[in-house]
Amino acid sequence: PLNPLGRRTCCRGGAKRRGGDEMKIEEVQSASKKQRIATHTHIKGLGLDANGNAIPLSAGFVGQGSAREAAGIVVDMIRQKKMAGRALLLAGPPSTGKTALALGISQDLGSKVPFCPMVGSEVYSSEVKKTEVLMENFRRAIGLRIKETKEVYEGEVTELSPEESENSTGGYGKSISHIIIGLKTVKGTKQLKLDPTIYDALIKEKVAVGDVIYIEANSGAVKRVGRCDAFATEFDLEAEEYVPIPKGEVHKKKEIVQDVTLHDLDAANAHPQGGQDILSLMGQMMKPRKTEITDKLRQEINKVVNRYIDEGIAELVPGVLFIDEVHMLDIECFSYLNRALESSISPIVIFATNRGICNVRGTDMTSPHGIPVDLLDRLVIIRTETYGPTEMIQILAIRAQVEEIDIDEDSLAYLGEMGQQASLRHAIQLLSPASIVAKTNGRDKICKADLEEVTSLYLDAKSSARLLQEQQERYIT
Ligand code: ATP
Repeated sequence: PLNPLGRRTCCRGGAKRRGGDEMKIEEVQSASKKQRIATHTHIKGLGLDANGNAIPLSAGFVGQGSAREAAGIVVDMIRQKKMAGRALLLAGPPSTGKTALALGISQDLGSKVPFCPMVGSEVYSSEVKKTEVLMENFRRAIGLRIKETKEVYEGEVTELSPEESENSTGGYGKSISHIIIGLKTVKGTKQLKLDPTIYDALIKEKVAVGDVIYIEANSGAVKRVGRCDAFATEFDLEAEEYVPIPKGEVHKKKEIVQDVTLHDLDAANAHPQGGQDILSLMGQMMKPRKTEITDKLRQEINKVVNRYIDEGIAELVPGVLFIDEVHMLDIECFSYLNRALESSISPIVIFATNRGICNVRGTDMTSPHGIPVDLLDRLVIIRTETYGPTEMIQILAIRAQVEEIDIDEDSLAYLGEMGQQASLRHAIQLLSPASIVAKTNGRDKICKADLEEVTSLYLDAKSSARLLQEQQERYIT
């Protein structure tokens, strides 16, 4: 019997979504890592002026002028896509703002650019390979901006010519992946690919050649189809998001933009680990439910992503992968990184270390910062300097404000001195216990006596090391 829609079937390609492989995007939840950021909540950017000069106190940043300006140039290079295959190393003594700088770079790049912080030692897990941990974090740092347009067509179903039907009839035994129908609009006849389920819905409504129908599509992929009478209200063509245009043309809906990372896509498309037998189900109940992201899955995702990019539906947004304590990585990780940096979809990698010349893990070589020389060669290096008393006091004042802690001028100066002797981080860490001591002493504002009490309770790393040396005989060695 004649097909009511004059349809032709086509078996080329596996069209479930936009004429290609299916990929779950709607359910994707962003899983960006939030840890290690709280101590830097006051950092809102690099605090540079329009000419790229560091403003002494801006965006929560104090001092460290040359490093901030150098970082600003890196931001420009990233924006102009001139950082490909290169990476940045932030090198300097402990608590001189290396992590704060990396965060400032990411904030200046904008919230839509993914930022994935990790620590070198994270790669050492008993369950996951080192390179797997690195790969996952690489993919957390690569963003994809997916742009979709929603359109509504209105037109009359037409018969397809015999040649059109002939050319696209699939071979014997192949399943039908999509069905093409002809649609006559005022702009001419279109051929639209329909998912079989959408086609079945049309048949159910007894739509036939000559009927006028509405078609709603997402970036060209048909989502809903129906007769005018039944669908006119459902499509709500009078609603604001549709631009009302003459009958028969395309009614455009707003553009929908979704930002995800490649890791978000991997995770959303991964299958739960293990089969459905009793033993593996038990296993899943005992352990937290895990999903397995395989190399094969990543390749599949890459394929779909590349197609989206070619079709202009998606745009790649290389983000920042920040690897703190890079000296903790070993030679295997370094050679992986050397290769990964050359990939066309590499993020911008920022390393940080407070080590001088030391051993490259997994070898008996020593090297500056514990990084092999071939990788060092690829790096742009920014140095951070230790802070003077004024800068340290300014940073402490900002932290006190962020943590909503009241402290008087004298105490700030005293804390600044302690920061000079120990480290800035140690001085910052004393703020919270000092405020608790102040409250127990019946005060809202920290005064010098509270700080003295706190310093008698807690040692900084240097004093503790000194004591250890003095009392070595009392400890087990
Ligand atoms: P480490 O080598 O020990 O990892 P680091 O160089 O990464 O240290 P940070 O963690 O960035 O040091 O700095 C320690 C604390 O001081 C953080 O809370 C950070 O936000 C703050 N800080 C450091 N430098 C500045 C600065 N120039 N302006 C404002 N805050 C700063």
